[in-house]
Amino acid sequence: MKRLLPIYLLMISVPTFAQTYAIRAGAVIEPESGKVDRDQVIEVEQGLIKAIGPNLAIPAGVQVIDLSHEWIMPGLMDAHTHLSLTLLGNEAMPLESTYLRESTTFRGLRGIHNATVLLSAGFTPVRDVGNSADYAMEDVRRAIDQGWFSGPTVIHSGKIIAPFGGQSHGTSPEQGSFWKYDYIDADGAVEIRKAVRINIYYGAEVIKLALDNSPYHYSVDEVRAAVDEAHRAGIPVAAHVYGGEAADYAIEAGVDSIEHGFDLTDEQLKRMKQKGIFLVGTDYPRAHLDIIGTAGGIFPDPAVLAPRIIDRLKRAHRLGVSLAFGRDPVMDVAGRTRADLMFDYLSVWRTAGVPPAEILKSMTSEPAKLLRVDRMRGRIAVGLAADLIAMPADPLDNVENLRRVDFVMKNGGVIRQAASTAAGPR
Ligand SMILES: [Zn+2]
Repeated sequence: MKRLLPIYLLMISVPTFAQTYAIRAGAVIEPESGKVDRDQVIEVEQGLIKAIGPNLAIPAGVQVIDLSHEWIMPGLMDAHTHLSLTLLGNEAMPLESTYLRESTTFRGLRGIHNATVLLSAGFTPVRDVGNSADYAMEDVRRAIDQGWFSGPTVIHSGKIIAPFGGQSHGTSPEQGSFWKYDYIDADGAVEIRKAVRINIYYGAEVIKLALDNSPYHYSVDEVRAAVDEAHRAGIPVAAHVYGGEAADYAIEAGVDSIEHGFDLTDEQLKRMKQKGIFLVGTDYPRAHLDIIGTAGGIFPDPAVLAPRIIDRLKRAHRLGVSLAFGRDPVMDVAGRTRADLMFDYLSVWRTAGVPPAEILKSMTSEPAKLLRVDRMRGRIAVGLAADLIAMPADPLDNVENLRRVDFVMKNGGVIRQAASTAAGPR
């Protein structure tokens, strides 16, 4: 039997930036400070938060949104996604199959679909870290910015930069370097600098390096070249690394985030904290790992990896490393959206003992810094973009309440609104 979905009054594709709203908020959660303010009014004008306070007068004619029984917080962020990639669908496919079976256009269409789903669930900015063929995510970003489709603010990495071979293993020499569809082979500082520039040319706002997915690793000088070139252009470097000497090199060279980092030692985590390097742990729940399996040798055995992930997250949190929530969506599951699957990751954070307040921080104000959108997003404050979500139960009480988001505003446009919350014009 089909599950009954709640009825939503609005599901619009083009946000109405110009509309002025007054939102009656039951409680406003500010994850960065941990403050919760009851019975607030948030005034939104021209896409920005114009005023916020307990006793704001609402001018006549302003559209009122009644969220007086809801908890409001800044829009969520996902610091590690691949909107245009599905590695595992209804049939198990090795990574290489996507190059053979899916065009850049098809990947872009998947990107649009997933972007819409994530925005509707409350994710207002996302960072897409590669595997989008010939820069499909740049077109997705442009299409969203044009207002053709509703989607989050998209920050993408362009192609993943890696030592020869990308993340493909064991293909025959006759095939050539066909992974170049998703990766740039770059060996040595000169090639790495050029690869960074190519990505920036095609719209990348973060550089993604795959450090330890080959029989050989980048040297510290090679990582330094990437960091130097990216930082000179004002953009951060995200390093795919599990641990070991590749993690040492990434930390020493000063990347901005370590993605995955399943094998990081306490010593490495401490150095990350000292240098302000984020951990984007992509903390897979066991149930997902069981579906993924070893993915053709990319992942360790689920029975080994699942407890390792929980332990690493626990240690990273205890040692005070900056954490940014990120999901590595390599699979789709029939009957469930990518947003549903994303919220499954919360169980890992809960098991690792991270309190709800800090989970919310790792989904808002912390990734805002990593994504370099913190001047405009990640908090609810006057002058910032009106990226807001609301739900009928307190996520500080139970973080799983994030699954119940029933109101989403992006750049001051109402994306999703439960019928019960529309109070109409004053
Ligand atoms: Zn990934």
